[in-house]
Amino acid sequence: MDRQIGIDQVDELLPLAAQWATEQERRVLCEGVPLSESELADAKAVGVRNPERVRLLRVDEIPVPVHPMLKAAAASINFITAAPRGLALQNAIFVRSDQWRDRDLIVHELVHTAQYQRLGGVLPFLQTYIVQCATVGYQQAPLELEATATAERICSE
Ligand SMILES: [Zn+2]
Repeated sequence: MDRQIGIDQVDELLPLAAQWATEQERRVLCEGVPLSESELADAKAVGVRNPERVRLLRVDEIPVPVHPMLKAAAASINFITAAPRGLALQNAIFVRSDQWRDRDLIVHELVHTAQYQRLGGVLPFLQTYIVQCATVGYQQAPLELEATATAERICSE
């Protein structure tokens, strides 16, 4: 089974991924709820700017792209894993209903929000993320490793 997409496919995938992410972000910003006081403190601790703009949306399943090519790519890089618990799309965070307000998960996703901000938005984040997943794989992607390590540090303090 081919687990990784080719680096040459990134340019083709990127606009599709960015469009999908922007649509999903808009939905969460409309329908979601703000962070709680303790989540706001965690967001500041991981470097999120304007954490009051972040919204969480509780969903039964994390949405996956419907575009066939994007869906295949997402599956192949585990951008959307088999049963993801959460997904950050800039200021929007999807949280699976059985993980709702799970601190480890929210902090992990907030680190991704900080990464979107640091890298300059949806397009540059996705470009970096997809390239990392396509070259070293999802598990070893530096953006993932940073999110996991930071969440561990913050939640053990
Ligand atoms: Zn992650």
